[in-house]
Amino acid sequence: MTVLRARNLQKHYGKGDGLVRAVDHVDLDVAAGETVAVMGPSGCGKSTLLHLLGGLDRPNEGEILLNGRRIDNASENALARTRRTDIGFVFQSFHLMEELTAVENVELSALMAGHSPRASRRRARQLLDEVGLADRAQFLPSALSGGQRQRIAVARALCNEPLVVLADEPTGNLDSAATIDVLQLFEQLHERGQTLVIVTHDARIAATADRLLTMRDGAVVDETRLTGGTTGQLGALLGFEE
Ligand code: ADP
Ligand code: MG
Repeated sequence: MTVLRARNLQKHYGKGDGLVRAVDHVDLDVAAGETVAVMGPSGCGKSTLLHLLGGLDRPNEGEILLNGRRIDNASENALARTRRTDIGFVFQSFHLMEELTAVENVELSALMAGHSPRASRRRARQLLDEVGLADRAQFLPSALSGGQRQRIAVARALCNEPLVVLADEPTGNLDSAATIDVLQLFEQLHERGQTLVIVTHDARIAATADRLLTMRDGAVVDETRLTGGTTGQLGALLGFEE
């Protein structure tokens, strides 16, 4: 079953000589439980694509369907509801609320989706436990490491059991040890059947995906289906030595 589908997706900025085709005729189908990695040089349109897929931005042309339902032309209210309940975002720079504790950051998602305070707190605690941060529930983000902050951001993204998690360079601000923590977390999500789209520069993350898309100048220029344990295969594809 296709969870997320994009057809002829286009997003441009500017006009005339300054026109930038940030996303240029992209078609995409993400199946339930599939992890799709998106790679490509800086400025090729990865973030723009992810923002369109998640309803953070609207395309100039094309359609986006989430579980068969059009979201590209939904009303602002309907789109906001979709973002709150059906989509989980993970950003490179975490985007946590600095004045809220770890558990408050996570439960806020559930509260905003209309769950009771008690149920929201219960769910947030459970998720912090799952990401290995039960003992940091009352900490402010400023008292946590980058890797811990990103794990909280992942817990927040999962709070409402989204149809799809969209992650934009989730390890881009992390050191190597924290990258491995977050990598393992995404692998667990994948194993549990969470549908994922991950934009990444990190071949180790991309190697955990079922499919790798390569973008250039707004377009998907290559698509490779990966099989389990493909780090070597991917390294070869990307021109790395093992
Ligand atoms: P990536 O995430 O792959 O680095 P982006 O999606 O951020 O690429 O950007 C794709 C292209 O669109 C770039 O040329 C960028 O400068 C341009 N772009 C992105 N957002 C805007 C914006 N809000 N206004 C104008 N140009 C933008
Ligand atoms: Mg980007």
